Formats: sequence, structure tokens, C-alpha cells
Amino acid sequence: MTDTTSTRSALSFEVNRRPDPAQAETIAKVHENPGFGKTFTDHMVVIDWTADGGWANARVQPYGPFQLQPAAAVLHYAQEIFEGMKAYRHADGSVWTFRPEANAARFARSAKRLALPVLETEDFLESLRQLVAVDKEWVPDPGESGEKSLYLRPFMFASEAFLGVRPAKEVTYAVIASPAGAYFSGGLKPVNLWISTQYARAGAGGTGAAKCGGNYASSLAGQLEGMEHGCDQAVFLDSSTHTYIEELGGMNLFLVYKDGRIVTPELTGSILEGVTRGSILELAKEEGLTAEERRVPIQEWKDAAASGDLSEVFACGTAAVITPVGELRWEGGSCDHRRDGHEDTIATKLRTKLLDTQYGRAEDTHGWMTRLA
Ligand SMILES: *Cc1c(COP(=O)(O)O)cnc(C)c1O
Repeated sequence: MTDTTSTRSALSFEVNRRPDPAQAETIAKVHENPGFGKTFTDHMVVIDWTADGGWANARVQPYGPFQLQPAAAVLHYAQEIFEGMKAYRHADGSVWTFRPEANAARFARSAKRLALPVLETEDFLESLRQLVAVDKEWVPDPGESGEKSLYLRPFMFASEAFLGVRPAKEVTYAVIASPAGAYFSGGLKPVNLWISTQYARAGAGGTGAAKCGGNYASSLAGQLEGMEHGCDQAVFLDSSTHTYIEELGGMNLFLVYKDGRIVTPELTGSILEGVTRGSILELAKEEGLTAEERRVPIQEWKDAAASGDLSEVFACGTAAVITPVGELRWEGGSCDHRRDGHEDTIATKLRTKLLDTQYGRAEDTHGWMTRLA
């Protein structure tokens, strides 16, 4: 079946539905225990770009493998970027997403840094609407946990078959979607972090502020090092002095002090500007906390934990929302931030506020929500 829909964006999407979409029972089974990034919906969006013709062939098509030449530039030089967002089902059945303009703007910044073409905000948003319109049944009800969603993964890569080193003249943009439960198995369990001294995730002038696959590739050895020390994730420090906290491989960090300060590393150019991070800074101020964005020495963290001035540490990002940090470990030492009875923590309070807004359980006083379907 093929039909063409006109859109608000400059692009016109052709819709090619798969003849054998998943049955309601199959989807219900996935929704029971979605995990994270394991099962994908029936369709995906694909848009082609060429240096000569710009964006073209916008389409929704059955989810399935790409045909890619072995010489495709992305496989050799990692010219690739992505985004991570969620579609939330509200009680009346409508489907919404959170601050998508911020993701579109970041995707455009990432594209510029990786010498990829910019996809206009309206086209980016339309690509999400198109996919969710066709795969709406895949957006779960929030469920008992109150936080099931459909994870949306827009991405763009150099598909030109050419081994010379220059920005690709053929690029592919796509969006895939996957039902999501809690990101870390075991729910709101605190994560233990390892201070990586051997590895950095990004350096000055590098791609740390861009959401690109290369940053994740370079964070994996640090994460492995952490896992070898019994931790879930690594904390990366600034690459030149190994003195200041930057972030985790895929999440930003916040320290909460007993005196009501909430501190996160300032954006130095090697830290990813999280949408969750920015939203937490706004919500924290409304909660009467003093929000600080500045350089945070790792020694400050250790000292404040030892003195008792530090009350909480948490990590944040779209996938896991807010996750409390349990232990911080390093070569020859550790400190613990575990709190019994999580209910009254700042992390839980902010987390609930965010989730209630996202699922339409609280009024969207910031105009953060956009309806997709
Ligand atoms: C995506 C990402 C985050 C979190 O960003 P959100 O917009 O809050 O999801 C943090 N750090 C890195 C390295 C990331 O890639």
C-alpha cells in the first residue's frame, strides 16, 4: 500500500506500510516487559540526502536492514550522529514528546560538528510524527511503573561508498522506534560509578558536545574498566588535567548539597548538553534550590562526601530520566551516597515532576510538550 501525505514540513513523506504488521497480542507481549532497545516497531522513516539534490525521498517504510556498500564512509570514518527521545501516551490516548525542538536544535549542532547536512527542525519533527502515526499502537500505556514509553532514535550517517577522507556527498537520515521500560534493569536502583583515570571520553576541540556514535565508542573502554571494578558506569574527567568532572558515557551528573545547592558541570565544549540536564536546572530553581553550573573538581565530590555536606548525587538523561548514584569508586578508595527510603530525595522529587509532565499527569507549565499523534 502506498499513499502520499502532505505535511507542514518542506518534505512530502511517502508511506509504505508493511503488509504483515505485528498483531495486537504480539505488541502487548512486548509492552509487558519492553526492556530497552531490544524490539523495534513495524516501520522506520528514511530520508536520503545528496550534495547535489539535498533532502529527498522522505518515506515511511517497513523496519528492516539497510543496503550498505562495504565502502560506506560511516563504517570507516564514523561520520554519524543521533538523538534520543521518547513518545509518551497520555490517559486520553494521545501521544506526546518532550521538548523536541531542543533535540532538533542539538541534532543540527551535531550535524555541523560532524560535517553532515542539517535537517530543518520542521522536517525533524515531521519525521517523528510520521513514524508515530503509523506505529501508534506501539506506544505503550505508562503501566504500573508509570514510565513505559516508545523510545525514538533519529540518526544520520555517511552512506556514500568512498574511502577518501572528506565529508560524504551521500547521507542517510532515519528514525527507528523501540518500546522502553526502565533503562537500567532493576528499576530505580542506584548506579555505582568508577572514576576513569586511564581514559577520557572527549577532549577540548573534539566532538564531546555533539551526540555522535564516536563518543560512545570512545567511552566503552572506560566503562569496561569500571565494570572490572564492580561498577555500572564510568565518570569521565576533563582530558587535559583529569581534575574536573565532566559526565558519564551517556548521562549528565548533578551533585546535591545539604545547604540546598544543586551543582552540575558547566558546558565546556566537551560535555553533551542534555535536555534533561537543562530541564532539571529549571525545575530545581522552582523548587527553591540554588542551581550552579560551574567546573566541579573531582576532589570536591570526594571531600563533600567525606564531610557529609553532600546529600545526593544523580545522573540524568532521556533514557533513564534520573538515576541516583550509589557508590563512587576509584583506585584505592570509594565513597557512598546510598540513601535509605528514597522517597524524600531531591532526585525522586525532580524525577516525579519530570515524569508527571511527560505523561500529562501534571500541568505542562513550561510548554515543554508537543503532540505527535
Ligand atoms: C544523550 C546524552 C546525554 C543526555 O542527554 P538528554 O538530552 O538528557 O537525553 C548526556 N550525555 C551524553 C554523552 C549523551 O550522549
